[in-house]
Amino acid sequence: MNLEELWQTTLGEMEVQLSRANFATWLKNSRLVDSKNGIFYVALPNNFAKEWVANKYQKNILGILRNMDSSAKKLEFTVEGKNPPSAAKLQTTTTPPLEEGFEVEFRVDPETNLNPRYLLSSFVVGSSNELAYAAATAIVESIGKKYNPFFVYGGVGLGKTHLVQAIGNEIKVKYQNKIKPRYVPSEKFVSDVVWGIKNKRMEDMKQKYRDVDVLIIDDIQFIGGKEKTEEEFFHTFNALYEANKQIIISSDRPPQSIPTLEERLRSRFEGGLIADIGYPDYETRVAILKSKLQEVQRNLSDDVIDLIAKKVKKNVRELEGVLKKILFFAEKKNLEVSVKLAAEIIEKSVQNSAKRVADTQILKSVAEFFNITLDDLISHNRRKEVVLPRQIAMYLLRDMLELSYPYIGEKMGRDHTTAIHSYEKINQEVNRNPGLNNKILLIREAIYKTN
Ligand code: ADP
Ligand code: MG
Repeated sequence: MNLEELWQTTLGEMEVQLSRANFATWLKNSRLVDSKNGIFYVALPNNFAKEWVANKYQKNILGILRNMDSSAKKLEFTVEGKNPPSAAKLQTTTTPPLEEGFEVEFRVDPETNLNPRYLLSSFVVGSSNELAYAAATAIVESIGKKYNPFFVYGGVGLGKTHLVQAIGNEIKVKYQNKIKPRYVPSEKFVSDVVWGIKNKRMEDMKQKYRDVDVLIIDDIQFIGGKEKTEEEFFHTFNALYEANKQIIISSDRPPQSIPTLEERLRSRFEGGLIADIGYPDYETRVAILKSKLQEVQRNLSDDVIDLIAKKVKKNVRELEGVLKKILFFAEKKNLEVSVKLAAEIIEKSVQNSAKRVADTQILKSVAEFFNITLDDLISHNRRKEVVLPRQIAMYLLRDMLELSYPYIGEKMGRDHTTAIHSYEKINQEVNRNPGLNNKILLIREAIYKTN
């Protein structure tokens, strides 16, 4: 086996062992560059990946290599960019100021209306968005055929816009402008229709949309209920669909839950592929944080990253926001980011909103979510349908409000040991069980919303 084959086999095994998000983030762009005297040299695209892989996966990788080549004794990790820079260049590189990473103004391409910031390569994949991501990559390969229309839905800040724009950007690059994508927030579509009607230029307006090869409509829920717009959208949709053009639609909810959406439009959507994007689990949140840090060439200790990922669960946008705040604050004050400092900043930005939540609101939202009554929730009934909600309620009272166990016990008509037990049980399970994690995040969101 040559180095290339050896490495491909190793990666193949690692891919099975790791979650997709982790594999894609840390190992996909690695290479085995050399081996000498039992030392295998592995190149990674940046310092971050280097550290992470060295800390977490070194043993596994060495084990796999050793199975194929018994001379393997040790791994050495090196960094190599996409175009490996010369040594001289490396030395003069300084970390760019923070603004350049997060705040840089990407210019929206006027042809396609796409923002080049959104790429498939920067989209972190985890169990919450796997299917949507897989569909996105498949669409780029066979436009208009396999998954048409593609309907993706999910809550605020979970990556819908990122993903649908990334499909457009990928297509633009891959087909070198031979295939024309166009990104349209649905409000823009609505205002174009209104403009067409007002100025008696509907034909121009129609032409504009029917000229494209890939039409991306973001947040379709805003079209629902506007009759003339829906009508026009339906015709545009049909014209494109019949010409085998690709249609990509995002929404904050599934088609059947957009009450005002006309039946014929709904059934069209249901004829394609529908995928949801859920709340990222802990592991994906860590991967996202790491990948954002990589983008801005910053480093934070694993403890700090762990803390952020544990505390900030609302959505990816909030995760990004908190990370940005922490980095910005530390840099401005020239401080090292300690766990304590990070905790303070998180407390200010996240818990603030949670603090104002009333404990009764938590109970109400839990009961509502599971479709049981408040009485059920605090009763001594041991039916499975009420035991889990009860434990979740106690967990949330502790987690969101940091109430004492005796207080929680009293509130729930239990003693404090039951409160402790419930909290600990859910706290452990929530990071292992994505289904449960998802439920809890939805309940949190409901609590924030009513707040
Ligand atoms: P939505 O359209 O669902 O409200 P966005 O696509 O605007 O959400 O995402 C919010 C922010 O989170 C964006 O900055 C986006 O780049 C980032 N983001 C969301 N999901 C991911 C992901 N899986 N990987 C990397 N960044 C993500
Ligand atoms: Mg969006």
